[in-house]
Amino acid sequence: MVLSEPLKLSSQNILFSRQDTLRGSITPQKDWWDLKYYHLDIVVNPSDSTIKGTNTVTYRVINPAKVMQIDLQEPLNLVKAAQNNKVLKIKREGNVYWIELAEKQEKGKIYSLILTYGGKPRVSSRPPWVGGITWKKDAGGLPFIASSCQGDGASLWWPCKDHMYDEPDSMLISVNVPENLMDVSNGRLRSIERKTNKTTTYNWFVKNPINNYGVNINIGDYTHFSEVYNGEKGSLNCDYYVLRENLDKAKVQFEQVPMMLKAFEHWFGPFPFYEDGYKLVEVPYLGMEHQSSVTYGNGFTNGYRGTDLSDSGWGLKFDFIIIHESAHEWFGNSITNEDIADMWIHESFANYSENLYLENYYGKEAGREYVLGSRRNIYNDKPVIGIYNVNNEGSHDMYYKGGNMLHTLRQIVNDDEKWRSILRGMNKDFYHQVVKGSQIENYLSEKTGLILKPFFDQYLRDVRIPVLEYYIKGNTLTFRWNNCVPGFNMPLKIYVSGREKIISPVSSFTSVVLDTENAVIKVDVNYYVATMLMTAK
Ligand SMILES: [Zn+2]
Repeated sequence: MVLSEPLKLSSQNILFSRQDTLRGSITPQKDWWDLKYYHLDIVVNPSDSTIKGTNTVTYRVINPAKVMQIDLQEPLNLVKAAQNNKVLKIKREGNVYWIELAEKQEKGKIYSLILTYGGKPRVSSRPPWVGGITWKKDAGGLPFIASSCQGDGASLWWPCKDHMYDEPDSMLISVNVPENLMDVSNGRLRSIERKTNKTTTYNWFVKNPINNYGVNINIGDYTHFSEVYNGEKGSLNCDYYVLRENLDKAKVQFEQVPMMLKAFEHWFGPFPFYEDGYKLVEVPYLGMEHQSSVTYGNGFTNGYRGTDLSDSGWGLKFDFIIIHESAHEWFGNSITNEDIADMWIHESFANYSENLYLENYYGKEAGREYVLGSRRNIYNDKPVIGIYNVNNEGSHDMYYKGGNMLHTLRQIVNDDEKWRSILRGMNKDFYHQVVKGSQIENYLSEKTGLILKPFFDQYLRDVRIPVLEYYIKGNTLTFRWNNCVPGFNMPLKIYVSGREKIISPVSSFTSVVLDTENAVIKVDVNYYVATMLMTAK
């Protein structure tokens, strides 16, 4: 996702309901079965803004049970659930359906369930920040339709197990649309079926595990062009779908795709979905990281809708949506947060990747200026980590503060090749996995060889910016960390009258002897900290 503007600060006093818990936690009715495969097979009708069809859910029984939870949000209706031609009892509770299985569910065995549903899905009032379907028209008056549902969840438009912890191993998405339109979904286009009723079904197959909010439909009068990128894992198919009227502009703007792939493969390792290919698909909203089908609506111009969110000038050197949303293929789609409270895994790294992209093409100083400039977007309103088990995102600071946190961590590591190998290692070791934030924190501690618990507690679980308090008496520099969590002990690079020095402040005052009297102290600006020169008494 991308940060919305203007930013709305959310209230800290949130009350959670039973619906939030059913949605945001791994309930016993979700826990006993493991998703293997989805076949979503739907008809999208632009003339009355409806969706209807089936989702066949294939799963393996982990622990036999009788009741299964399926999520489908109002105003859509689950019409029927069936297993082996037997219609099952279903009971609705808000956005949740309780499905009573008739057949004995044997441990280790694979079963399928066909869910039939339909209705008018919620229309998004503000895509992609408010989930739903967007029904627009192109310049020629033809329908231009797209889904977006991060946060609100995939159950907003199709019935599923709507929790990030479980992904199907693969998925077939069949979308029937009027014959003058095309659907572009995730993965590769397996077949096109022309129907006798002036409609066409597009069958898209995703070979890899896919997170639920990554699944998408994009329907319009698309035209297509493509290229092959020779990357670290071989030939990667890059396919681009845009409205006819934008073809020329897209051919120029999308030249940033191979540049993005080159930079990110260097920093993060191979693109994580070679089997499914890379796609960039034009949509009637800003954009979203849909897996192997990144959606694009940034106006074929650089920056974030033509503006530089960092105010450093560097933000206009790249197309924000191509760079940011594609970075989510590594952080978000390959490495996925288990609970949305840990969405910083997606957004902090995607934000940080913008800085690395700049560094790749314009040098380290450009990346630095960009990440420092972006601090103006940090609010420190509430912790970056949200509340677990209730489908609650943390602060918007997961973007810019998160990016600055990682930039700060790079300074502590103080070895760029080691830092790059850690980022690549993360993408190898957590390849196609759903993870908890703590796993990423522990991984970074282990690989850097640093005890980073206080560091992450400070930047992810607290809103305070640590302050280095210091004073100089003669040739003695005295300093400590204040405004910080207990045990905060981040080493810091300072310049003593222009000469680099690493100091190790803790929360009580300690001193070092300098080799000059009354030196001028400057803290390295790359660290996201505050500084206070105290007057010696
Ligand atoms: Zn994002």
